[in-house]
Amino acid sequence: MEQDQLDSIASPLFEAMTLSNWNNLSLDSIEAHLQRLLAQLANSLLENFILPNRIAEIQRQVEAASLLCCECGSKWQTHKLNQLIHPKTLFGNRIAIFRTQYYCPTCQTYLSVADQVLELPSHQMTPRLASVVAFCGASWSYALTSAFLEFLLGVEVSDKTVERFAKDEQQMPAPLPQEPLKEPPCIVTADGVLIRGRKKDSLLEMKVASFFSQVVEGSHNRRQVQDASFVASAAQEWREFVSCVSEEANRQGLSGWEEVEFVSDGAEGIWQMQEMVFPRAKKRLDLYHSKCKVGERIKQAYRGSAKKEEIEERVEGYIEKGMIDEAINYLKPVHNSEAGFSGLFEAG
Ligand SMILES: [Zn+2]
Repeated sequence: MEQDQLDSIASPLFEAMTLSNWNNLSLDSIEAHLQRLLAQLANSLLENFILPNRIAEIQRQVEAASLLCCECGSKWQTHKLNQLIHPKTLFGNRIAIFRTQYYCPTCQTYLSVADQVLELPSHQMTPRLASVVAFCGASWSYALTSAFLEFLLGVEVSDKTVERFAKDEQQMPAPLPQEPLKEPPCIVTADGVLIRGRKKDSLLEMKVASFFSQVVEGSHNRRQVQDASFVASAAQEWREFVSCVSEEANRQGLSGWEEVEFVSDGAEGIWQMQEMVFPRAKKRLDLYHSKCKVGERIKQAYRGSAKKEEIEERVEGYIEKGMIDEAINYLKPVHNSEAGFSGLFEAG
């Protein structure tokens, strides 16, 4: 719709408002009033104009037999006219929708064809509100979702309803399509991420794996991954995560037999998972943990040495740049000249 057209509609709307209502209000209150007004207007458009027209058009097609039973191709028979439902919308209140219920004599099923065409699986909410509730309910606690939806959208949804929609199969996203890349990802990484559980004070470790190939220099000292894809699970054990990671690897064109680089923090469960999914992977300890490990060993090996800090700094510098051979070559003469050093590189 053009802005000019909207402005000309806003003008009589403004005339219809009582101006004195706004006089003593802050901008915050005015915005809240307007949000409610626009929500009412949107519901009115849906309930009184758009949906009745749309449904009438669908039902004309049913009666003209251009919309047939999608199971068997039979012509629908009218069963009951003007069946009323009251779904709640994204704009807050419930709206009234009347549709005809049809009967398929072959399948012996009853269906409101308009619901099917409009993709209205639940009579409690419109599809868009159901998605918003499911999405927010998956991200926040049910009580917080309920409070936020009321504050942000003026939609009242109980904690219980949020829980039901967050767990509803129909709200789950469709599986991703196969996406074999010309050059499948060559780096895989996995880690555990602590998140707050739904029960008070409980923490859960989410399992996350990521696949990528392209890393570019970003801002100072930061490298950015260009093509990451992720897979995550609420699985308790790393071995329960194996099938999810394998599935995502296959989706991206990896068989599991490739010599990918597998980066981890060194946790035993992650290496075990790696062994099962990518048995030929090159194991890599992540930068943070390799620096910690090397730092610890240098502190042990050069305890009491004046050169300890200098050596640590040099070695970390090499590690950061991925110059592992240089780090080893640097340490060899140092190692030979300093007593008490052992086992730095056997630590992995
Ligand atoms: Zn049928």
